[in-house]
Amino acid sequence: MSIDVPQHILDELTDVDMPRLPAEPATTERLDLAGLQVPVYRSGCVIVGSGAAGLRAAVELKRRGDDVVVISQSAWGGTSACSGSDKQTLHTANTADQGDNFKAMARAIRDGGAMDEDTAYVEAVGSPRMMASLQYLGLPLPQERLGGTLRYQTDHDDVGRATSCGPRTSRLMVKVLAEEALRLALPIYNQTTAVSILTEGRRADRRIIGVIAMRAADRSESNPFGIALFPCSALVLAAGGPGELYRDSVYPNGCFGSLGLALEAGIELVNLTESQFGIGTRREGFPWNLSGTYVQSIPHVYSVDADGKEHHFLGAYYRTTQELASNLFRKGYQWPFHATRMLDFKSSLIDLAIYLESASGRRVYLDFNRNPLAVPGDLPFSLERLDDDVKTYLGNAGASQALPIERLRHMNPLSIELYRRYKVDIAAEPLEFAVNNQHMNGGIRVDVWGRTNLPGCYAVGEAAGTHGVTRPGGAALNAGQVFGTRAAEHIAASGRAKLRPSGYIRTTAGDRIQALLELLKPGGENSVKSVRAEIQARMSDKAGLICDAQTVSEALAEARQLVANIKANGIGYGRPAEAARALQWRHMALASEAVLAALDVYISSGGGSRGARAICDPDGEDVPVTRDGTLEAFRFRREKAEHKSEQIVVRSEGEALILRTCPIRTFDESTKSFFERDWPDWLTGRIYDGAGQSD
Ligand SMILES: Cc1cc2nc3c(=O)[nH]c(=O)nc-3n(C[C@H](O)[C@H](O)[C@H](O)COP(=O)(O)OP(=O)(O)OC[C@H]3O[C@@H](n4cnc5c(N)ncnc54)[C@H](O)[C@@H]3O)c2cc1C
Repeated sequence: MSIDVPQHILDELTDVDMPRLPAEPATTERLDLAGLQVPVYRSGCVIVGSGAAGLRAAVELKRRGDDVVVISQSAWGGTSACSGSDKQTLHTANTADQGDNFKAMARAIRDGGAMDEDTAYVEAVGSPRMMASLQYLGLPLPQERLGGTLRYQTDHDDVGRATSCGPRTSRLMVKVLAEEALRLALPIYNQTTAVSILTEGRRADRRIIGVIAMRAADRSESNPFGIALFPCSALVLAAGGPGELYRDSVYPNGCFGSLGLALEAGIELVNLTESQFGIGTRREGFPWNLSGTYVQSIPHVYSVDADGKEHHFLGAYYRTTQELASNLFRKGYQWPFHATRMLDFKSSLIDLAIYLESASGRRVYLDFNRNPLAVPGDLPFSLERLDDDVKTYLGNAGASQALPIERLRHMNPLSIELYRRYKVDIAAEPLEFAVNNQHMNGGIRVDVWGRTNLPGCYAVGEAAGTHGVTRPGGAALNAGQVFGTRAAEHIAASGRAKLRPSGYIRTTAGDRIQALLELLKPGGENSVKSVRAEIQARMSDKAGLICDAQTVSEALAEARQLVANIKANGIGYGRPAEAARALQWRHMALASEAVLAALDVYISSGGGSRGARAICDPDGEDVPVTRDGTLEAFRFRREKAEHKSEQIVVRSEGEALILRTCPIRTFDESTKSFFERDWPDWLTGRIYDGAGQSD
C-alpha cells in the first residue's frame, strides 16, 4: 500500500496556487460621515469571509441571480485556505459499496449531544449534493475505477465516511469555489475587515441595513482608517472560528471569527462551551494537526527540560510498552482530547501527559527516528507486541519497517513533504508539538436555513454554532458547504438581495462610525499586544482542555474587567493600519467573556466533562490512573445526561451578557415526505417559511 506516485503529483497536492483576484469594482458614491469621506459600496447581500463556507454561499447566491459581494480580511487567509490535517475530510454518504443511511449518519453527527437534531439531518442529507457539486467544480476527490469514492475512518466515525484529496483538501475547496466566483464575475473586496453590523428597527422589526468595514485600499488623508460603508439587505457571516482566543492554537494566524461582532449586534450565540483540543504544531511555526499517520507510525514522544535533559514521560503513564505504543497509534483517529479516554489507560492520557509537560515548562517532541522507548521494567517496543487492532492495521498497510520515519514514508510520504515545505525536516530532526485549540463547535445560533435571530442575517461555516459537543472529522467542512448553500437558497427565495438597497442610512452609519472613532486611541493603555497576551493566556491556562469551577469563575471576572476597561478607556493602536486589528481585539475580549460566561453557567449547573474538556472536581466520579497511581488533581465530573438535550444561549443586552438554556430542536425520524402532499410547499416557497428559531 506504499504510495508510489511521481513527485510532481505529490507537489500539486501540497502546493496549491490560488487564483489572482481581478481589480475590485470601484464606487463613486461617498458620504461625509463623522467628519470622514466614506466610500459606499451597495449590494443586495454582503458575505463576510472568503473561506470555503463564504465562497459557497456567494457562488450559490450569484447563480440564483442575486446581487452579492464578498468582503474578506484576507482573501486566501483563514482556516480553509491555510490549515488542514492529513485527514481533511468530507462526508461520503453516496460512495461505493451500499451507500449510506442518512438517519444513521445524522445520528453519528449529533452523537455527542447538545446538537439540534434537524440540523444533523440537514447536514447528512445535504452531503452528497455538496460532494457532487464540488466534484463538478473540479475538486479532485479520490475515486475507484467504477466511480465510487475512496473513503476511510476518522474521529467520531464508526463507519468510515471520510475522504480526502490529501493534506490541502480545504484549500482545494477554496480554490475551486474561488475560480467559480471569478467565472461568475462575483466581486471580492480583499483586505476589507467588517468591524460593525448596522441594523434598523426595534425588537421584531429589527433588520440588517449594512456593514461598516475598514479597507486598506480606501485609506487616505481624509479617511486614515479606510472606513467604508457596505449597505445591504442581507448579510452572511462566514468569518470562520475565533482561533486567536487561545495562545496554544493550531489555527493559522489572524483568525478572529465574528463572535464579538455578532454579540454587539444583538445576535445570539450557542454552545460556546464546546471547542476541540488536540495535538499539533503551533501557529508560531507551521500549524498542523498531528493526527493520522503522524502518530500511526508510532514515533518516540519525549520532553526536554530547561537544562536540556530528556524525559521519557509517557513511560510514567502507561503500564506496558505495548499499551503506550498502541494508544499513541490510536490518536490517529481519536485525535481530539476526550475526558473519558483519560480513563482505563486509553489514548487521551497521552494528551493529559503532554499538557502537563508543557505546563511545567518542558518542550515536547516527536522523534520519527526512534521507536518508543520501553516503559521502565517492561519489554522493548516491537511491531509484534501491539494490540490486535493496531497490529492488523499496520499489517494491512504493509508498515513493517523498522523505524517510524520509514513507516511514515511508506504510508504517507506527503506528510514528510508537507513539513519540508515549511523548512522542517522531520526525517532529520524531532518535531516540537503541544496540545492546542483547533475548532469552535459552538458559534452563532442558526436555524435549518442558517438564519440568525436578526432578520436578514445568516451565519455559515465555523462562524455558525451548528455542531454539538463532538463532531466527526470532516463534519466542519461539510456543514459549511451545506449551510452556505441553504442560506443562499433562503436569501434568494426571500428576494431581499435581488436589488441593491438605495435607502438612506446616513444617521445610523454616522453615529456608529463616530462611536468607533471614539474607541480608537493612538498608543492607548489597552494596546493590541497587551489585550492579546491577556486574553490568550487566560483562555489557554484557565479555559483549555482542563477546567474547574473556581478557575473559570475567576477567569470570567477578569474577562469582564477587561471588557469594562476597554469600554472606558478604548483600545490602542500604533499605526492607522492597525485600527481594524484593534477593533477585532475588542471583539475578542467580548467573545472571551461570552465563552467564559457560558462555561461558568454550565459548570455551576453541575455540568460535567464532555467533548474536549475535562471539568475537574474533588467530588468527581472519575479519576485518571497512571502506572504510578491515581492523578487526584484531575479527578473529574461525569457529564449529566440531561445536558445532552439542551444548549446554552448567550446574547448581549446593554452592558450585560444574558444567558439561558433551551432544549435542542428535535427531529422525528419516522416523518416521511409524500410527493403530492409536499410538492406545493416547494412550488410556492412555503418550505422557507417558519419561525427562525424554535423558542
Ligand atoms: C489544523 C486544522 C485542521 C482541520 N482539519 C479539519 C478536517 O480535517 N476536516 C474538517 O471538516 N475541518 C477541519 N478543520 C476545521 C475547518 O478547517 C474549518 O472549520 C473550516 O475551514 C472553516 O471554514 P470557514 O469558511 O467557516 O472559515 P475560514 O476558512 O476560516 O474563513 C474565514 C474567512 O473570513 C475572513 N474574515 C474573518 N474575519 C473577518 C472580518 N471581520 N471581516 C472580513 N473577513 C473576515 C477570513 O479572512 C477568511 O477569508 C481543521 C481546522 C484546523 C485549524
